[in-house]
Amino acid sequence: MLVARTIEIVEVGPRDGLQNEALLVSSADKVELIRRCIAAGARRIEIASFVNPRKVPQMADAEAVVEALGRPAGVTRIGLVLNLRGAERALAAGADQLGAVAVASDTFGVRNQGQDSAQSVAEAKAIIGMAKAAGRSAQVTIAAAFGCPFEGEIDPARVVEMARQLAAAGPCEVALADTIGVAVPAQVTALVAAIRKAIAPLPVRVHFHDTRNTGVANAWAAVEAGAVTVDASLGGFGGCPFAPGAAGNVGTEDVAWMLARSGIETGLDMRALVDASHWLSGVMGKDLPASLSRAVPFPAGGTA
Ligand code: ZN
Repeated sequence: MLVARTIEIVEVGPRDGLQNEALLVSSADKVELIRRCIAAGARRIEIASFVNPRKVPQMADAEAVVEALGRPAGVTRIGLVLNLRGAERALAAGADQLGAVAVASDTFGVRNQGQDSAQSVAEAKAIIGMAKAAGRSAQVTIAAAFGCPFEGEIDPARVVEMARQLAAAGPCEVALADTIGVAVPAQVTALVAAIRKAIAPLPVRVHFHDTRNTGVANAWAAVEAGAVTVDASLGGFGGCPFAPGAAGNVGTEDVAWMLARSGIETGLDMRALVDASHWLSGVMGKDLPASLSRAVPFPAGGTA
């Protein structure tokens, strides 16, 4: 397969990256993080989730973050939502795009968002409809698409059928998420190809966690299989409060470097990403899971 020359990276650090961190990050630092990502070239950013603050305290200031950020030119600000109440909040706050989540397993769906798989598909479709009625766009992610922390293997046919149903509601894309980091490249190649076929011409986005060190390999497999957008988190922070043992997202700088060195443009500036990553490391008071920020620049004298 001919690999695309341009791949979009959606920065999910401000939401997925932070939501599982015990340290409560100030709204001002969240806005600074988003601004640094924009300065590094990010143009679509998951800036917050509009969920129950008792369940995800880190996201309790979603409205304040959106308001303080304002509307940076040329940037699509995604608000992640799990139900219609969250969608109402995100729309009222002014999010440009709603991110809905359908879950491929009943057990994880109930634990993550109080919905079994079928209910999560119905809710996601309603969220997409609500966004469109408000003149905004919506995308949807199929969580636990490659494996469930409670039910184990997920039948790919089930994921394909979910994607088909979700695509009919008119999202701008459908994403496959390896919420717990169990996918391997061969599985990614097969599932991305199957989903592409099921939802064409809608584009496919992918979302990987790097629990078992396959995240960046999975991202490459997805790109080769025709995914056009990859979620990534600055510094490789992240995790899911409802998925035991899940590690962070693939690091934005790691994915961007791999793609750049492979002749694929992402629009991201490597030096600015690494600087922002070091800044975030200072805010969080810990080392970064992502690799690039710990490596010496290559090529020598190059940007990262
Ligand atoms: Zn995630």
